[in-house]
Amino acid sequence: MATITPPRWRFGLVLGGRKIADLVFPPACAFCQGELLEEDRELRLCGRCVHTLAPLGVARCPRCGLRIPGGLTRGEDCESCRGNCQSFEAVWTLGEYEDLLRGAALRGKRPEGQELVTSLSRLAFERHGNEIRDWRPDLIVPTPMHWLRRTWRGANSPEIVAEAVATALKVPYARFGLRRQRFTKPQAGLPQRERRSNVRGAFRVNAGYDFQDARVLLVDDILTTGATLGEMGRVARVAGASAVAVLVLARASGDW
Ligand SMILES: [Zn+2]
Ligand SMILES: [Zn+2]
Repeated sequence: MATITPPRWRFGLVLGGRKIADLVFPPACAFCQGELLEEDRELRLCGRCVHTLAPLGVARCPRCGLRIPGGLTRGEDCESCRGNCQSFEAVWTLGEYEDLLRGAALRGKRPEGQELVTSLSRLAFERHGNEIRDWRPDLIVPTPMHWLRRTWRGANSPEIVAEAVATALKVPYARFGLRRQRFTKPQAGLPQRERRSNVRGAFRVNAGYDFQDARVLLVDDILTTGATLGEMGRVARVAGASAVAVLVLARASGDW
């Protein structure tokens, strides 16, 4: 069923502490368009959607973000990470790239999904903000989009997530910290080995950005096999980054 989203009035008139626009068109949940309780208006997600999109109490490997059935001792890496040299110091995610969260992440790639991406970014920060702050990032870098793709798609959800998190953390947001120096085929549908070669050499640090000794938080909307973020991490380290971690809205449940 088609839903009509009311226009968001921005002139900020306030009546009894509430914006007039909110009284005329009460803000709706960015995912289900349902009515919001007063306490959910900041996040713009209703409690039911928060619970189904990103259920609490899921044990994850702190290193790769993989869900661990049965749980782990706090702070312990999962079996596949233990003893292996991993690309990232940590991966934070709202949940698996499955079911409703998958649908939400895909909707966020379309221009009309930008508000939803902002809401999911705030939720990700609510869940992981303290751990990310403790990790002490110096730079927040989104997965860059090739300029050609940007011209026909417009919205770039990794940038929305990265900006929201950088603002909340008060850490420099390096929107153009990394750039795509060549056009790559979409990763979706490519086997893992081809994904790696598809993105190999695709990125470089942009002029004017200094990664030397920086702790870099890479941000994307979706992590599937980790090939793109892995290559970005490699480029960041070659440029002198001292540590690399990742924040995504959704993470595919397979190994990378
Ligand atoms: Zn909802
Ligand atoms: Zn792991």
